[in-house]
Amino acid sequence: MNASGCTRGASPMRSVNGAGQVHLVGSVPVGDGDAESVFRLAANLLGHTLRRIPDGQTGLRTDTLAWQAAVFQRSRDFRQNRTGTPRAPFGHYALRPGSVAAEIDLGRLGNVEIAWSSYQVFARLKASGIIAPNTRFQVSLPTPMSVVSSLVTEADRTGVELIYYDAMATELANLQARVPPGEVAVQWDVSGELAMLERVEDIGRRDEDLDVIAGRLSDLGNLVEPGVELGYHLCHGHGSSVRVTRPSDLGLLVSLANAVRSRMRRSVDFLHLPVPRHRIEPEYFAPLRDLVLPRDTDLFLGLIHVADGVDGAALRIASARTAVANFGVATECGFDGGSPDMVKRLLLLHRKLIAPWDHPGFVGGRESVKDDRCGSSKQIPG
Ligand SMILES: [Zn+2]
Repeated sequence: MNASGCTRGASPMRSVNGAGQVHLVGSVPVGDGDAESVFRLAANLLGHTLRRIPDGQTGLRTDTLAWQAAVFQRSRDFRQNRTGTPRAPFGHYALRPGSVAAEIDLGRLGNVEIAWSSYQVFARLKASGIIAPNTRFQVSLPTPMSVVSSLVTEADRTGVELIYYDAMATELANLQARVPPGEVAVQWDVSGELAMLERVEDIGRRDEDLDVIAGRLSDLGNLVEPGVELGYHLCHGHGSSVRVTRPSDLGLLVSLANAVRSRMRRSVDFLHLPVPRHRIEPEYFAPLRDLVLPRDTDLFLGLIHVADGVDGAALRIASARTAVANFGVATECGFDGGSPDMVKRLLLLHRKLIAPWDHPGFVGGRESVKDDRCGSSKQIPG
């Protein structure tokens, strides 16, 4: 039992009522590479089932980590090691002799500046009724550790991560000062941390333990102001990513999510956990029984894969239900690397999978009733 009054594992998602059933992780490469194309397409195909809508991270941001190389490229305090590796194809940036991380001004990171621009498009489309009234603008941001562990040479990471964190915190504060809190959600994309915990080869620093990483992630979460929704995408990467891991179960991710939550000063509004395509067995999902899931947290499982469509997702949904009663659906990661045609197919796949749920009172195709104790849903066998 936790402070919110809900228990582990079986405590379902708060909003299984047609809204919030679908989650888009971030990258949606469509149209002319602009936010408006993404908003219009996603709103048209998924409508009110999207509680939050990202701008698609189009253009330069298609690879959310790689595009941050520009931050280090333009700094006179860094030099580039051009001997890239498969996991760091751009090479790494190292501090120049004489440069001290703590004294460096990284300048603009750019993520939040673009988010402000996209928010204004979002607000216009929402005012005109194209985006549903209950949908928030979702800002997906890479954690400082994810960026630094991808782009900075190992010896300099600790110091550079601190100044990158400060720069990110400043930019996020500036954004939050400009947007209505009730219109925005911030999602931290957590990839470098998992790579370290899972001991991905060649990822560098390996002395971090789960508690330290959970502390850093909760610090990032606490930067998100009250009224703005907060979520975490725990990321294994995907097909086109340089960091793809395929763990045998969700145990580590559940432990990390619980550890982060226990350190938070605020609510976590949504949590996205990835499900690799070949993890169709119930054993992969079994650790979800230990997930502390308060009634104010939406759980999304990234179990949609274009390669096996509705049938594959249905298998994974069935296995997941052996451990957790209710959840929304998503892809394993962002759509980057996909063609516009594939993006459209993926969005339509989301729609097919939620079709039976798309009205109040239904939970994954089975009728539900409200559980007053937990604000959750109990299933009535169909
Ligand atoms: Zn991801």
